[in-house]
Amino acid sequence: MTAELITGIGELTTNDAPRSGESTRLPGAALVIENGRVAWIGSASRAPDADSRTDVGGRAVLPGWVDTHTHLVFAGDRSAEFESRMAGHAYQAGGIGTTVTATREASEHELVANAKRLAAEALRQGTTFLETKTGYGLDLESETRSARAASSVADVVTFLGAHIVPSGIDRDEYLRLVTGPMLQAVAPLVDFIDVFCETGAFDAEESRAVLLAGRAAGLGLRVHGNQLGHGDGVRLAVELGASSVDHCNHLAAADIDALASSTTVATLLPACDLSTREPLAPARALLDAGAHIALATNCNPGTSYTTSMQYCVATAVLQMRLTVTEAVWAATRGAARSVARDDGVDSVGSLRVGAIADLQVLDAPSVSHLAYRPGVPLTSAVWRHGTRVTAVPSAF
Ligand SMILES: [Zn+2]
Repeated sequence: MTAELITGIGELTTNDAPRSGESTRLPGAALVIENGRVAWIGSASRAPDADSRTDVGGRAVLPGWVDTHTHLVFAGDRSAEFESRMAGHAYQAGGIGTTVTATREASEHELVANAKRLAAEALRQGTTFLETKTGYGLDLESETRSARAASSVADVVTFLGAHIVPSGIDRDEYLRLVTGPMLQAVAPLVDFIDVFCETGAFDAEESRAVLLAGRAAGLGLRVHGNQLGHGDGVRLAVELGASSVDHCNHLAAADIDALASSTTVATLLPACDLSTREPLAPARALLDAGAHIALATNCNPGTSYTTSMQYCVATAVLQMRLTVTEAVWAATRGAARSVARDDGVDSVGSLRVGAIADLQVLDAPSVSHLAYRPGVPLTSAVWRHGTRVTAVPSAF
């Protein structure tokens, strides 16, 4: 078994505290990787011998990003819709139908190739753990194909058959399909079930039926909620003990209180908010109330076509009033919590002895540069599962 020493770390973010704001940043640190896991952490001056040694020359090292909300399985392009929206036309949930048409027409090979291109793009920018979803197939065959494609690129897969009711099928009939044969077909391929609980998508009772069917099939629960208005998504997610409720732009005081007294993580998607010109989620109020938050890209072709977690972290600091430490924590260990990977043998999002060795090196002396130098691609090296990865440039 070979051990690799990474030394000369100007600042090592360990995320060893269980909540944001308390995380440790060690100066002059070193770290040993063995068998894909962190085997030792401490002062560079006391580092043990190892089989190989990498000196990062005073750069900052932190956990790889944990992006727990993406929609990478799709075909087609919605740049015209984006441009129209920037020209003042409002976003509505029905825009998803455009991508559904393109995705149904694509082969599984094309879907996998596109998802892999985006996953590689994310990895080059420091994302070492990915969740992705189905949700652009919306018939039995296309959702099953999407679930297989998703499981070939992501660490965690979510079934989002309940994205919208596709055209050409009766609403009740579609709900029976999603909670019946479609769910049974994808269940062996996925970890979570999700529902778009929003005006124009699914109401509270429909969403509840979807989530309960997923739970009965052994899946964890996630919810798209409170994106476009004061809906029932947060209330439902907390009531059912969902792992995560995502978006959370429009929150009443009661929603914030409910999240603060629950184990449900509020996953905030600032790149999406900017791309839809929705108000940014109240991250500061959520943290101050004691809620658990995560940051994710929501990478999708309609409302947030970015794989950059650094952009989300910078936005959270510059516009959502998080501290740098809080934003980094939310994009790593906070996100890991929403997929039950923040502690235990397979933990990601922190650099502690025994954790999976997923880490990134910044071309900067401190994580503060992630927001201090917004838009600058700072990730210069990435280790995933203890192996230094050199990602292949994406093809066009
Ligand atoms: Zn989404």
